[in-house]
Amino acid sequence: MVDTLRSGWIGTGPRTERFERMFAEYVGVPHAVAVSSGTAALHLSLLAAGIGEGTEVITTPMTFCSTANAIVHAGARPVFADVDPATGNMDPDLVAAAVTDRTAAILPVHYAGRPCRMDSLKAIAQAHGLLLIEDGAHAVAGAFGGRRVGAIGDATCFSFYVTKNLTTGEGGMVTTRDAELAARIRRLSLHGMSRDAWRRFSVDTFRHYEVIEPGFKNNMTDIQAAMGIHQLAKVDRGLERRREIWSAYDEGLADLPLERPAPEEVDTVHARHLYTVLVDTDRSGKSRDRVLDDLIERRIGTGVHYRPVHLHPWYREQFGHAEGDFPSAERIGARTLSLPLSAGLTDVDVTDVVEAVKEVVSEAAGRQGA
Ligand SMILES: *Cc1c(COP(=O)(O)O)cnc(C)c1O
Repeated sequence: MVDTLRSGWIGTGPRTERFERMFAEYVGVPHAVAVSSGTAALHLSLLAAGIGEGTEVITTPMTFCSTANAIVHAGARPVFADVDPATGNMDPDLVAAAVTDRTAAILPVHYAGRPCRMDSLKAIAQAHGLLLIEDGAHAVAGAFGGRRVGAIGDATCFSFYVTKNLTTGEGGMVTTRDAELAARIRRLSLHGMSRDAWRRFSVDTFRHYEVIEPGFKNNMTDIQAAMGIHQLAKVDRGLERRREIWSAYDEGLADLPLERPAPEEVDTVHARHLYTVLVDTDRSGKSRDRVLDDLIERRIGTGVHYRPVHLHPWYREQFGHAEGDFPSAERIGARTLSLPLSAGLTDVDVTDVVEAVKEVVSEAAGRQGA
């Protein structure tokens, strides 16, 4: 990053190109387009694929709002399919049932880093002539059936937001095998101009640009890319450390009134983005929110991934969604909490988390028994 600052070229330039090449090679695809966020990756992929007014995109309610918002921004209608209660990933049977003659794409999210059943989703997409555009925000380094996430569907969107397994502060990437799609996403990311700004200025003679379509301002900068290049080099080591922490949580929390994450499926690599547990209020005597507060009181940072998208006010009002529409997502949304998980956690940190969770949850179980 310091080299980038000293080079005098801090915008989109040679380091962004290098990061794209490295990322494409890592995933195993010919094309990667760096953008300003995961949200931009989703928005531009949908637009570049021609998805808009009058079309529907099937996605999961168990995701960050950005997934559904991007569909709305593209002008299409998000149609939710409920999740498998054991994994939090979209249930392929429910995806198939949600297909209509307006469906243009399936947009799965690899929840918490666990790859979706891509064989089943691909079969549905092929049977109905649909695009498969993945939200891989949780799943960098994940794999399904021997292929890295990013090399499976028509396009995969990654986020490099601060909380993600690979971060550039803010940033995102689209990977695809489709050269034309990649070129259009690239153009849309920089005003819809006919050539990259940095190329415009790096040639010997003046070159005019032309606006091919009204694009956006979603390019990545070389400062971000410089961070990404070094983050990518560490991503596999990071996954190793995440696995160790995961096992320590699995072991340490085994006898508590909590549901732990389902084991990794065969022939997949789980990217271990979020370690989520489901609070069993009947057995522990504590609501999920009470457990969150008690953990915060013990200085353990937690998260909720996610309260289902369809229950947020705008989605309720716009599409008439209500409680009961997607019961499995709602069951997870009401009980889930995410424990700290980062390659930077020390063994002492992990022990602290386990001890705090034991205290908070067993204490309640003890009280209930008394
Ligand atoms: C983080 C995230 C996004 C959005 O990524 P940004 O880079 O923050 O725009 C989209 N989908 C999911 C599932 C995410 O976790």
